[in-house]
Amino acid sequence: MKLLKDKEIAIIGAGPGGLTLARLLQQKGAAVIVYERDFNREVRAQGATLDLHYESGLLALEKAGLMEAFKQVYRPDADRLRVVDQYGKIFLDDHEEESKADFGDEYFRPEIDRGPLRNLLLDSLQPDTVIWDRHIRSIEAEGEKWKIFFQNGHTATADIVIGADGANSKIRSVVTPIKPFYSGVTILEANVADAAKNSPNVNSLLKGGKIMGLNNSKTLSMSAKGDGSIDFYAGWRVEDSWAKDSGIDFGDHQQVMDWFRKEYAGWGDIWLELFKNAGTTFNPRPQYCMPLDQNWEAHANITLIGDAAHLMPPYAGEGVNMAMLDALQLSESLTDDSQPNLKTAIGHYEQQMFERFAKIGQETLDNTELMHSPDGLRKLLQMFEGPAGTAAE
Ligand SMILES: Cc1cc2nc3c(=O)[nH]c(=O)nc-3n(C[C@H](O)[C@H](O)[C@H](O)COP(=O)(O)OP(=O)(O)OC[C@H]3O[C@@H](n4cnc5c(N)ncnc54)[C@H](O)[C@@H]3O)c2cc1C
Repeated sequence: MKLLKDKEIAIIGAGPGGLTLARLLQQKGAAVIVYERDFNREVRAQGATLDLHYESGLLALEKAGLMEAFKQVYRPDADRLRVVDQYGKIFLDDHEEESKADFGDEYFRPEIDRGPLRNLLLDSLQPDTVIWDRHIRSIEAEGEKWKIFFQNGHTATADIVIGADGANSKIRSVVTPIKPFYSGVTILEANVADAAKNSPNVNSLLKGGKIMGLNNSKTLSMSAKGDGSIDFYAGWRVEDSWAKDSGIDFGDHQQVMDWFRKEYAGWGDIWLELFKNAGTTFNPRPQYCMPLDQNWEAHANITLIGDAAHLMPPYAGEGVNMAMLDALQLSESLTDDSQPNLKTAIGHYEQQMFERFAKIGQETLDNTELMHSPDGLRKLLQMFEGPAGTAAE
């Protein structure tokens, strides 16, 4: 670990990418601090459940020595998917499959909620690794170090900075001027607590798993969470300024329901119970993507992982998996004694990341396009089942 000897590493962001990196680096004996804007670890991690993949998310957990801990908290069967049309009619049903893949199988993609994944990673770190309530405002070079400025007036210094601060990274612009582009699709996301009571029909259809509903260039995605709630998001093609232009008050369920009825005209009434009973405000998120051919010259003491490096829409389920694989590859590069210096070590990681993202980002954009095309349901079934998947025609 000669490159990291006597170096202090600041990881910005305690998401899955940043925490996985902290764990992997601490295993090798590196000095790591994670700065996170959330006030504490109790802040509820929002968002849909995550499926971890064999060659990326699960591999990183394995290398981090956390697979046994993961097996205690993942949610068996939460990965079972139903693909439905606008009325909730089922066209593909994983629940019908009796035998299922298991750990060690390439196609096994176990689900975990964001909160338990964050806790699993936090619990694996040395005490006081994460400093909460540290919302980064900016960083500045100070000799060979970085000075970090937080919104609450605190400052810190570090030898190496890793931007793991997600979609709106404050670190990215220090590394590269390359900006994301709009994918053409916006999502509107919310959560229904106690779904058995508040959304009984969708809850029954969901059966503890996931649903992807498609019709006429629009999607509605749902996942059951371990706390009995349902996370859901509508996805459709619209200008990226829609949230502002629409004039909708996203805290007003009636206004959002009126929008859904109009925008998703022809969809069955079953979905209304989600919009009516959402326990959270609705969160509009235009889906941006980093350019697939992005590339920059490596810096000697700063880099990016996860969404900060390669934001993409959620339609291939790769975001968290790529964040965790970044963490693994960066940790291996930084602790590789055959690397002559930090710049080459960072460059070695970034080249792997660029090449991987060019491929995965393309797959993601292809899926986003396919699902939001007029005959998205048929195309998705074909993708899952091969040319025989013509039931929806
Ligand atoms: C609706 C939706 C569904 C998704 N579904 C899936 C899926 O099924 N599978 C999948 O693989 N991916 C999915 N994704 C993508 C996935 O959530 C991200 O790719 C993943 O969380 C990226 O991890 P990360 O650690 O890079 O960033 P994040 O998870 O965004 O974590 C960043 C962390 O940095 C902190 N932070 C941000 N700014 C600052 C700052 N200025 N100062 C300090 N801290 C800061 C944040 O609070 C957060 O803790 C989905 C995304 C969305 C929006």
